[in-house]
Amino acid sequence: MLPQEIVRKKRDGGTLTNEEIAAFVQGLKDNSFSEGQVSALAMAIFFQGLTLEERISLTLSMRDSGEVLQWPDIEAPILDKHSTGGLGDNVSLMLAPALAANGAAVPMISGRGLGHTGGTLDKMESIPGYTAKPDNDVFHNAVKDIGCAIIGQTGDLAPADKRFYGIRDVTGTVESLDLITASILSKKLAAGLQTLVLDVKWGSGAFMQTYEQGKALAESLVRVANGAGVKTSALLTDMNQSLASAAGNAVEVQNAVDFLKGTHIDNRLWDVTVAQGGEALANAGLSESVEAGCEAMRRAFQSGKAAELFGKMVAHLGGPTDFMEKTELYLEKAPLEVPVYAPEPGLVTKVNARAVGLAVVELGGGRVKPEDDVDPAVGLTSIAEIGCTVDSDNPIAIVHARTQEQVERAQAVLLDAYSIGNASEVEEHPIIGECIAPL
Ligand code: URA
Repeated sequence: MLPQEIVRKKRDGGTLTNEEIAAFVQGLKDNSFSEGQVSALAMAIFFQGLTLEERISLTLSMRDSGEVLQWPDIEAPILDKHSTGGLGDNVSLMLAPALAANGAAVPMISGRGLGHTGGTLDKMESIPGYTAKPDNDVFHNAVKDIGCAIIGQTGDLAPADKRFYGIRDVTGTVESLDLITASILSKKLAAGLQTLVLDVKWGSGAFMQTYEQGKALAESLVRVANGAGVKTSALLTDMNQSLASAAGNAVEVQNAVDFLKGTHIDNRLWDVTVAQGGEALANAGLSESVEAGCEAMRRAFQSGKAAELFGKMVAHLGGPTDFMEKTELYLEKAPLEVPVYAPEPGLVTKVNARAVGLAVVELGGGRVKPEDDVDPAVGLTSIAEIGCTVDSDNPIAIVHARTQEQVERAQAVLLDAYSIGNASEVEEHPIIGECIAPL
């Protein structure tokens, strides 16, 4: 099958067969499709789109381009979640152990942060000794014996997507809904999941800026995942401000530990974590309904079981055995902690969440390029929510930084990102929008 014939067919609006898609994915893998041919096909798909069948076929072919994990000795349902990414989104850290506490097995393969969005893996790596790339036995045993393991992606999972994404990234073709769908799902399904729950974010800090764009992506992901045989639902959630009151790496781990121990719980974070868990438990048949699943999640937190399992997972993956007891001793702290105050008192009416995320990047807590290192200690805490009062007692946020220069830069970005006004100007959105049910 000649690559240029496949490109030509899609360019003219044709529907590719499973064989043509498989040949393309093989070409991605063995480099028999040149970079020019891959980018031409990506651009043709960008303009002509893919049918549901084509999207399922591309997802499955990319999933099968590398290792697909198997869990034959685990009876518990194998499940996971995926978030399309945002600011202060540390849900995975609470969700994984709470699902495990309710009888699920959660092999959570997470990514690193890029641009204004944080990455679960960077957060976990701020725990001293934690290995995000354990050997297979350590990973397998954590999922089997503890019920969850948060680790990084290995090179063997969906390698075709890795090359495809790299080419899309430099050819203006990332923003194709069809390609985003196949890319996200091929990696997730390679973990050998039986069910999946998706957190599709919309808003100023999300990949999808409008609710309608988020909904279109959620529907595409749900249709394709279910079409590929994995029972999946999606929640649309608001990303017009940070989800947690902390954004960064160690500061988000501290926030997650406080949540798990019940010493400080951010309301919006609680709502999203419980709702996603309820969906996941219902999809997996571990609860009779979504509401019963939500109740089971609340119990896992309130009983301390989720906190206990998080501590066990950290220890199993190389972190301190007393991490939950001595969290503050282990997490690195930045030398400067400086509150940023609004010039005039008022209510927070609107936030440019992307800009707040970029303030964390400026501090060194995120990446501009994939190969950059992140600083675990820097970030923001006490981030003011939309509708809250900011004045000389209540800051917009506390900046955790290494240098005064970093503080000043973050301060300037924050003051620009926050709109302050009166009650009639407040732009608040419900934290949870629609649920796109398994189709
Ligand atoms: N995240 C992915 O994994 N793939 C995309 O194409 C876009 C976002």
